[in-house]
Amino acid sequence: MRKLKNDLELLKGQGMLRTLKTVAGVQGPKVMLEGHEVLLLCSNNYLGLAGHPDLIEASCAATMRFGVGSGASRLVSGTMELHEQLEQRIAAFKNTEAALVFNSGYAANTGILQGLVDPADVIFSDQLNHASIIDGCQLSGARTLVYPHRDMAALESLLQAESSRRHGRFLIVTDGVFSMDGDMAPLAELVALKERYEALLMVDDAHGTGVLGATGRGTAELLGCLDRVDLHMGTLGKALGCFGAYLAADRVVIDTLINRSRSFIFSTSLPPGVLGAALAAFDLVDGPEGAQRRQSLEVNRKLFAERLQQGGVDLCGSATQIVPVLTGEPVPTMEAARRLLDAGIFIQGIRPPTVPAGRCRLRATLMADHRPDEVRAAADLILEILAELPR
Ligand SMILES: *Cc1c(COP(=O)(O)O)cnc(C)c1O
Repeated sequence: MRKLKNDLELLKGQGMLRTLKTVAGVQGPKVMLEGHEVLLLCSNNYLGLAGHPDLIEASCAATMRFGVGSGASRLVSGTMELHEQLEQRIAAFKNTEAALVFNSGYAANTGILQGLVDPADVIFSDQLNHASIIDGCQLSGARTLVYPHRDMAALESLLQAESSRRHGRFLIVTDGVFSMDGDMAPLAELVALKERYEALLMVDDAHGTGVLGATGRGTAELLGCLDRVDLHMGTLGKALGCFGAYLAADRVVIDTLINRSRSFIFSTSLPPGVLGAALAAFDLVDGPEGAQRRQSLEVNRKLFAERLQQGGVDLCGSATQIVPVLTGEPVPTMEAARRLLDAGIFIQGIRPPTVPAGRCRLRATLMADHRPDEVRAAADLILEILAELPR
């Protein structure tokens, strides 16, 4: 215990201690934090669906009809009608043969990679992929080659080199939208490469699902290659406002995972309330309100990013609702976050290992139901605080 305590003290001295902040009430565009109302600029509830009345009603109705818990894992007695309905809905949404629901994005990525990839296979993984992908690569036992962020020439060299001594399969895995930079994977180029080198392509669209593309199908829709991605992973807890995750893919892939994926097999399935809400979320995303919310989000994103860019801030190539403000080292980053919070703006400072050393940042995320004047004021305040910061 003494060692644990010393280690924590050490982290604190380096500006690296992580602590929890409790939000009171519903996850809206403004929340109560430690008794003060603050503008919420660090939630992944991009479309504002987490507190939407349609989803709340659907969740309550599903709970009243089917109960609170699912009682078992999917392969035992925990597959309920709503699991099946949601999986059909997701497969239709992504235009694939089938889909499988997982308990979270973390469980999905670890379970998909472990269940699908063998030690004889090779995984090609973008340097800035999410931690759950990194863990999944490790669990798979396959050799994992990490290519520099979005560097297609480097990826092709690796694919070429591996082709000459190929034994197993190739899998290329990438975030659709990178979670800490807000930039997108070059999916059209990735599709061309995966076809040339006979690899499978897996896209984790945790941040694109519901948000990007004319109908919210995600990064692949926006970049015009929805039907050429093999494995569509997405989450239900971000823009969709619920909880859980999914893989949409060919039937044979889904059946393989049902037989092999440990995070799917050895965990109690999602409860009816969550499934009911997720079904309502897909209806909403697919309807006129979804389109309208995507448009409001884009207005806010543009306003916020342009204002910061005019102020000379490095936005790390962001092209989405995730807008990083590069601050460098941990201590000034956390100081900036504290000053912003004092001024009524809640943005988290992001430090290693979530981002590389020296690349600490304030990770701002916009929501559809922020007001443009609030977004503009927040950008101005960020510029003001950055200018005052000791470097
Ligand atoms: C959030 C996130 C996950 C994990 O999803 P959870 O449902 O929160 O477990 C996976 N991949 C990416 C890129 C993410 O941003």
